[in-house]
Amino acid sequence: MLPKKNHSAVFSGPKNFEIKDLPISSKDSNVLLKTLSCAVCGYDVRVFKEGHKKVRPPIVLGHEICARTLNKLNLPNNQIIPEDSRVIVSPLIPCLNCHHCSAGYFNSCNNLNEIGSSINGGFADYINIPQNNILINGIIPITNNIRDDEASLIEPLSCCLNAHLNFNIPINDEFVIIIGDGPIGLIHLQISKLYGAKTIVVGKIPSRLKEAKSIGADVALLNNDPEESIKTIWDYSYGKGGKLVIVATSNPEAIDLALKVAGKNSIVSLFAGVSKNKILRIDPNLLHYNQIALSGSFSSTPKIMKKAMDLVHEQKIDLKRLITHRFSLYEIDKAFNLTEACNGLRSVINSF
Ligand SMILES: [Zn+2]
Ligand SMILES: [Zn+2]
Repeated sequence: MLPKKNHSAVFSGPKNFEIKDLPISSKDSNVLLKTLSCAVCGYDVRVFKEGHKKVRPPIVLGHEICARTLNKLNLPNNQIIPEDSRVIVSPLIPCLNCHHCSAGYFNSCNNLNEIGSSINGGFADYINIPQNNILINGIIPITNNIRDDEASLIEPLSCCLNAHLNFNIPINDEFVIIIGDGPIGLIHLQISKLYGAKTIVVGKIPSRLKEAKSIGADVALLNNDPEESIKTIWDYSYGKGGKLVIVATSNPEAIDLALKVAGKNSIVSLFAGVSKNKILRIDPNLLHYNQIALSGSFSSTPKIMKKAMDLVHEQKIDLKRLITHRFSLYEIDKAFNLTEACNGLRSVINSF
Protein backbone atom coordinates (compact mmCIF):
# COMPACT_ATOMS: atom_id res chain seq x y z
CA MET A 1 0.00 0.00 0.00
CA LEU A 2 1.23 3.49 -0.84
CA PRO A 3 2.17 5.71 2.09
CA LYS A 4 -0.19 8.68 2.38
CA LYS A 5 2.15 11.45 3.49
CA ASN A 6 5.67 12.37 2.63
CA HIS A 7 7.65 13.89 5.48
CA SER A 8 9.80 16.50 3.68
CA ALA A 9 12.22 19.37 4.33
CA VAL A 10 10.71 22.01 2.06
CA PHE A 11 12.96 24.84 0.88
CA SER A 12 10.50 27.69 1.00
CA GLY A 13 12.79 30.63 0.16
CA PRO A 14 16.31 31.86 0.97
CA LYS A 15 17.62 30.41 4.24
CA ASN A 16 14.35 28.72 5.14
CA PHE A 17 13.38 25.08 5.52
CA GLU A 18 9.98 23.92 6.73
CA ILE A 19 9.44 20.32 7.75
CA LYS A 20 6.08 19.40 6.24
CA ASP A 21 3.97 16.40 5.28
CA LEU A 22 3.46 16.63 1.52
CA PRO A 23 0.81 14.60 -0.30
CA ILE A 24 2.10 11.66 -2.35
CA SER A 25 1.03 11.78 -5.97
CA SER A 26 -0.13 8.51 -7.45
CA LYS A 27 0.63 9.26 -11.11
CA ASP A 28 0.94 5.82 -12.69
CA SER A 29 3.90 6.54 -14.91
CA ASN A 30 6.02 7.71 -11.96
CA VAL A 31 7.91 5.50 -9.55
CA LEU A 32 7.83 6.14 -5.82
CA LEU A 33 11.01 5.27 -3.90
CA LYS A 34 11.70 5.29 -0.15
CA THR A 35 14.67 7.54 0.58
CA LEU A 36 17.46 5.97 2.63
CA SER A 37 20.19 8.64 2.47
CA CYS A 38 20.67 11.98 0.75
CA ALA A 39 23.95 13.89 0.97
CA VAL A 40 24.23 17.68 1.24
CA CYS A 41 26.06 19.15 -1.75
CA GLY A 42 27.75 22.56 -1.97
CA TYR A 43 25.18 23.36 -4.68
CA ASP A 44 22.33 22.78 -2.19
CA VAL A 45 23.91 25.23 0.24
CA ARG A 46 24.36 27.87 -2.48
CA VAL A 47 20.71 27.50 -3.51
CA PHE A 48 19.63 27.65 0.13
CA LYS A 49 21.53 30.91 0.67
CA GLU A 50 20.94 32.84 -2.51
CA GLY A 51 18.45 30.94 -4.68
CA HIS A 52 19.14 29.73 -8.22
CA LYS A 53 17.45 30.34 -11.56
CA LYS A 54 16.65 26.62 -11.88
CA VAL A 55 14.98 26.41 -8.46
CA ARG A 56 11.48 27.73 -7.76
CA PRO A 57 10.52 27.36 -4.10
CA PRO A 58 8.65 25.79 -2.43
CA ILE A 59 10.62 22.70 -3.41
CA VAL A 60 12.45 19.77 -1.82
CA LEU A 61 16.20 19.92 -2.56
CA GLY A 62 18.62 16.96 -2.53
CA HIS A 63 20.04 15.15 -5.57
CA GLU A 64 22.63 12.76 -4.06
CA ILE A 65 20.23 9.95 -3.32
CA CYS A 66 20.23 6.36 -2.13
CA ALA A 67 16.76 4.83 -1.95
CA ARG A 68 14.79 1.58 -1.79
CA THR A 69 12.25 0.32 -4.30
CA LEU A 70 8.69 -0.20 -3.03
CA ASN A 71 7.66 -2.44 -5.93
CA LYS A 72 9.18 -4.39 -8.76
CA LEU A 73 10.35 -2.02 -11.52
CA ASN A 74 10.30 -2.85 -15.21
CA LEU A 75 12.97 -0.78 -16.91
CA PRO A 76 13.90 -0.42 -20.60
CA ASN A 77 15.87 -3.30 -22.19
CA ASN A 78 13.87 -5.83 -20.14
CA GLN A 79 15.79 -4.93 -17.01
CA ILE A 80 13.91 -5.71 -13.81
CA ILE A 81 14.70 -4.27 -10.38
CA PRO A 82 13.02 -6.38 -7.68
CA GLU A 83 10.94 -4.89 -4.86
CA ASP A 84 13.01 -3.86 -1.82
CA SER A 85 16.22 -3.26 -3.81
CA ARG A 86 18.61 -0.52 -2.80
CA VAL A 87 19.25 1.89 -5.65
CA ILE A 88 20.89 5.19 -6.53
CA VAL A 89 19.13 7.76 -8.72
CA SER A 90 20.46 9.97 -11.48
CA PRO A 91 18.97 13.45 -10.92
CA LEU A 92 18.39 13.94 -14.68
CA ILE A 93 14.93 14.27 -16.20
CA PRO A 94 15.77 14.91 -19.86
CA CYS A 95 13.24 15.84 -22.55
CA LEU A 96 14.31 12.95 -24.85
CA ASN A 97 13.50 15.14 -27.87
CA CYS A 98 16.44 17.51 -28.32
CA HIS A 99 19.60 16.69 -30.30
CA HIS A 100 21.72 16.25 -27.15
CA CYS A 101 19.21 13.71 -25.83
CA SER A 102 19.29 11.90 -29.21
CA ALA A 103 23.07 11.61 -28.84
CA GLY A 104 22.74 10.22 -25.30
CA TYR A 105 24.18 13.34 -23.63
CA PHE A 106 21.23 13.68 -21.30
CA ASN A 107 23.15 16.02 -18.97
CA SER A 108 23.32 18.52 -21.86
CA CYS A 109 19.57 18.32 -22.59
CA ASN A 110 18.19 21.69 -23.72
CA ASN A 111 15.04 21.24 -21.62
CA LEU A 112 16.54 19.51 -18.63
CA ASN A 113 14.69 19.07 -15.35
CA GLU A 114 16.57 17.83 -12.32
CA ILE A 115 15.50 15.99 -9.19
CA GLY A 116 16.31 18.25 -6.24
CA SER A 117 16.43 21.42 -8.37
CA SER A 118 13.37 21.83 -10.56
CA ILE A 119 11.36 18.92 -9.14
CA ASN A 120 11.20 17.58 -5.56
CA GLY A 121 14.31 15.75 -4.40
CA GLY A 122 15.75 13.57 -1.67
CA PHE A 123 15.44 15.55 1.57
CA ALA A 124 12.18 13.71 2.22
CA ASP A 125 11.03 10.24 3.25
CA TYR A 126 9.90 9.41 -0.32
CA ILE A 127 10.86 10.55 -3.82
CA ASN A 128 8.74 10.49 -6.92
CA ILE A 129 10.76 9.60 -10.01
CA PRO A 130 9.31 10.81 -13.35
CA GLN A 131 9.08 8.49 -16.32
CA ASN A 132 11.80 10.20 -18.40
CA ASN A 133 14.32 9.32 -15.71
CA ILE A 134 13.23 5.68 -15.85
CA LEU A 135 13.47 5.67 -19.65
CA ILE A 136 17.18 6.56 -19.44
CA ASN A 137 17.80 3.89 -16.77
CA GLY A 138 18.24 6.60 -14.14
CA ILE A 139 17.50 4.15 -11.31
CA ILE A 140 20.57 2.01 -10.72
CA PRO A 141 20.69 -0.94 -8.29
CA ILE A 142 23.68 -1.02 -5.92
CA THR A 143 25.61 -3.96 -4.56
CA ASN A 144 25.42 -5.21 -0.96
CA ASN A 145 28.92 -4.09 -0.02
CA ILE A 146 28.01 -0.40 -0.48
CA ARG A 147 26.44 1.37 2.51
CA ASP A 148 23.42 3.70 2.07
CA ASP A 149 25.27 6.91 2.99
CA GLU A 150 28.27 5.93 0.88
CA ALA A 151 25.93 5.20 -2.04
CA SER A 152 24.52 8.72 -1.89
CA LEU A 153 28.01 9.99 -2.78
CA ILE A 154 28.13 7.97 -6.01
CA GLU A 155 26.30 10.86 -7.73
CA PRO A 156 29.09 13.40 -7.06
CA LEU A 157 31.69 10.74 -7.88
CA SER A 158 29.91 10.24 -11.18
CA CYS A 159 30.05 14.00 -11.91
CA CYS A 160 33.81 13.98 -11.22
CA LEU A 161 34.22 10.95 -13.46
CA ASN A 162 32.27 12.71 -16.21
CA ALA A 163 34.76 15.60 -16.03
CA HIS A 164 37.70 13.18 -16.41
CA LEU A 165 36.03 11.36 -19.32
CA ASN A 166 35.43 14.75 -21.00
CA PHE A 167 39.13 15.72 -20.88
CA ASN A 168 40.15 12.51 -22.47
CA ILE A 169 43.87 13.22 -21.94
CA PRO A 170 46.23 10.66 -20.46
CA ILE A 171 47.38 11.84 -17.02
CA ASN A 172 49.51 8.84 -16.11
CA ASP A 173 52.73 10.22 -14.56
CA GLU A 174 51.62 13.79 -15.27
CA PHE A 175 50.93 16.44 -12.63
CA VAL A 176 47.27 16.98 -11.78
CA ILE A 177 46.61 20.03 -9.64
CA ILE A 178 43.34 20.13 -7.74
CA ILE A 179 42.32 23.49 -6.33
CA GLY A 180 39.84 22.91 -3.54
CA ASP A 181 40.22 20.60 -0.55
CA GLY A 182 36.52 19.80 -0.03
CA PRO A 183 34.84 16.45 -0.70
CA ILE A 184 34.75 17.10 -4.47
CA GLY A 185 38.47 17.95 -4.54
CA LEU A 186 39.17 14.76 -2.60
CA ILE A 187 37.11 12.68 -5.05
CA HIS A 188 39.07 14.20 -7.96
CA LEU A 189 42.23 13.33 -6.03
CA GLN A 190 41.19 9.67 -5.78
CA ILE A 191 40.27 9.48 -9.49
CA SER A 192 43.53 11.18 -10.55
CA LYS A 193 45.54 8.74 -8.44
CA LEU A 194 43.61 5.83 -9.94
CA TYR A 195 44.67 7.08 -13.40
CA GLY A 196 48.31 7.21 -12.25
CA ALA A 197 48.81 10.98 -11.91
CA LYS A 198 51.11 12.83 -9.55
CA THR A 199 48.80 14.98 -7.48
CA ILE A 200 48.95 18.39 -5.83
CA VAL A 201 45.96 19.53 -3.77
CA VAL A 202 45.71 23.23 -2.97
CA GLY A 203 43.37 24.28 -0.17
CA LYS A 204 42.65 26.53 2.76
CA ILE A 205 41.65 24.16 5.55
CA PRO A 206 44.45 22.28 7.38
CA SER A 207 42.26 19.33 8.49
CA ARG A 208 41.09 18.75 4.90
CA LEU A 209 44.64 18.99 3.56
CA LYS A 210 45.66 16.41 6.14
CA GLU A 211 42.96 14.13 4.73
CA ALA A 212 44.24 14.81 1.18
CA LYS A 213 47.69 13.73 2.32
CA SER A 214 46.34 10.59 3.95
CA ILE A 215 44.44 9.72 0.73
CA GLY A 216 47.83 9.94 -0.98
CA ALA A 217 48.26 13.42 -2.45
CA ASP A 218 51.94 13.94 -3.28
CA VAL A 219 51.63 17.52 -2.08
CA ALA A 220 48.88 19.12 0.02
CA LEU A 221 49.47 22.83 -0.07
CA LEU A 222 47.98 25.38 2.32
CA ASN A 223 47.20 28.37 0.13
CA ASN A 224 47.79 31.40 2.36
CA ASP A 225 49.53 33.42 -0.33
CA PRO A 226 48.70 32.62 -3.99
CA GLU A 227 52.10 33.92 -5.24
CA GLU A 228 53.89 31.61 -2.82
CA SER A 229 51.64 28.65 -3.85
CA ILE A 230 52.31 29.28 -7.56
CA LYS A 231 56.07 29.24 -6.94
CA THR A 232 55.88 26.03 -4.87
CA ILE A 233 53.85 24.26 -7.58
CA TRP A 234 56.23 25.24 -10.39
CA ASP A 235 59.22 24.18 -8.28
CA TYR A 236 57.67 20.87 -7.30
CA SER A 237 56.61 20.02 -10.85
CA TYR A 238 60.14 20.78 -12.21
CA GLY A 239 58.78 23.67 -14.29
CA LYS A 240 56.15 21.48 -15.97
CA GLY A 241 53.04 22.80 -14.22
CA GLY A 242 49.80 20.85 -14.29
CA LYS A 243 48.77 18.77 -17.30
CA LEU A 244 45.32 19.00 -15.82
CA VAL A 245 44.16 21.62 -13.32
CA ILE A 246 40.78 21.06 -11.71
CA VAL A 247 39.00 23.94 -10.03
CA ALA A 248 36.87 22.29 -7.35
CA THR A 249 35.83 25.37 -5.40
CA SER A 250 33.22 28.03 -6.09
CA ASN A 251 35.69 30.81 -5.26
CA PRO A 252 36.33 32.55 -8.62
CA GLU A 253 39.86 33.58 -7.56
CA ALA A 254 40.81 29.92 -7.86
CA ILE A 255 40.37 30.15 -11.65
CA ASP A 256 43.11 32.80 -11.85
CA LEU A 257 45.37 30.59 -9.74
CA ALA A 258 44.53 27.58 -11.94
CA LEU A 259 45.63 29.36 -15.13
CA LYS A 260 48.90 30.37 -13.46
CA VAL A 261 49.84 26.81 -12.49
CA ALA A 262 48.66 25.15 -15.73
CA GLY A 263 51.51 23.85 -17.90
CA LYS A 264 51.80 24.14 -21.66
CA ASN A 265 49.20 22.18 -23.68
CA SER A 266 47.17 21.57 -20.56
CA ILE A 267 43.52 21.60 -19.61
CA VAL A 268 41.97 23.74 -16.91
CA SER A 269 38.59 22.36 -15.91
CA LEU A 270 35.98 24.35 -14.06
CA PHE A 271 34.12 21.80 -12.01
CA ALA A 272 32.24 23.96 -9.52
CA GLY A 273 29.54 26.51 -10.20
CA VAL A 274 30.43 30.00 -8.98
CA SER A 275 28.19 32.20 -6.81
CA LYS A 276 26.16 34.55 -8.96
CA ASN A 277 27.29 38.19 -9.28
CA LYS A 278 30.94 37.20 -9.12
CA ILE A 279 32.76 38.51 -12.17
CA LEU A 280 35.92 36.75 -13.13
CA ARG A 281 39.02 38.43 -14.56
CA ILE A 282 41.54 36.23 -16.29
CA ASP A 283 44.62 36.91 -18.40
CA PRO A 284 43.77 35.61 -21.91
CA ASN A 285 47.48 35.59 -22.82
CA LEU A 286 47.99 32.69 -20.44
CA LEU A 287 45.56 30.65 -22.57
CA HIS A 288 47.04 31.83 -25.85
CA TYR A 289 50.78 31.48 -25.27
CA ASN A 290 50.57 28.28 -23.23
CA GLN A 291 47.92 26.60 -25.41
CA ILE A 292 45.70 26.03 -22.39
CA ALA A 293 42.20 24.69 -23.00
CA LEU A 294 39.64 26.02 -20.57
CA SER A 295 36.86 23.50 -20.11
CA GLY A 296 33.83 22.81 -17.96
CA SER A 297 31.76 19.83 -16.99
CA PHE A 298 28.30 19.43 -15.54
CA SER A 299 26.53 16.49 -13.93
CA SER A 300 26.87 13.05 -15.57
CA THR A 301 24.73 10.37 -17.19
CA PRO A 302 23.29 7.10 -15.84
CA LYS A 303 25.91 5.18 -17.85
CA ILE A 304 28.72 7.04 -16.06
CA MET A 305 26.90 6.63 -12.74
CA LYS A 306 26.95 2.87 -13.24
CA LYS A 307 30.72 3.07 -13.88
CA ALA A 308 31.10 5.13 -10.69
CA MET A 309 29.09 2.52 -8.76
CA ASP A 310 31.42 -0.21 -10.09
CA LEU A 311 34.49 1.72 -8.88
CA VAL A 312 33.01 1.89 -5.37
CA HIS A 313 31.96 -1.77 -5.49
CA GLU A 314 35.51 -2.77 -6.49
CA GLN A 315 36.85 -0.57 -3.66
CA LYS A 316 38.93 1.49 -6.08
CA ILE A 317 37.35 4.65 -4.71
CA ASP A 318 36.61 5.13 -1.00
CA LEU A 319 33.61 7.39 -0.41
CA LYS A 320 33.06 6.33 3.22
CA ARG A 321 35.99 8.42 4.41
CA LEU A 322 34.35 11.56 3.02
CA ILE A 323 31.28 11.25 5.26
CA THR A 324 31.96 13.07 8.50
CA HIS A 325 28.43 13.90 9.75
CA ARG A 326 25.07 12.14 9.73
CA PHE A 327 21.73 13.74 10.57
CA SER A 328 17.99 13.07 10.51
CA LEU A 329 15.65 15.15 8.37
CA TYR A 330 14.77 17.24 11.46
CA GLU A 331 18.40 18.32 11.73
CA ILE A 332 18.77 19.49 8.14
CA ASP A 333 19.62 23.05 9.24
CA LYS A 334 22.62 21.72 11.17
CA ALA A 335 23.80 19.76 8.13
CA PHE A 336 23.56 22.86 5.92
CA ASN A 337 25.34 25.06 8.50
CA LEU A 338 28.23 22.59 8.77
CA THR A 339 28.53 22.35 4.98
CA GLU A 340 28.55 26.12 4.62
CA ALA A 341 31.20 26.45 7.34
CA CYS A 342 33.36 23.78 5.58
CA ASN A 343 33.24 21.86 8.84
CA GLY A 344 34.27 18.25 8.19
CA LEU A 345 33.61 16.89 4.69
CA ARG A 346 30.19 15.58 3.59
CA SER A 347 27.06 15.64 5.76
CA VAL A 348 24.41 13.06 4.96
CA ILE A 349 20.73 13.10 5.88
CA ASN A 350 19.50 9.61 6.74
CA SER A 351 15.84 8.77 6.46
CA PHE A 352 14.20 5.87 8.33
ZN1 LIG B 1 25.85 17.47 -5.86
ZN1 LIG C 1 16.69 16.91 -24.31
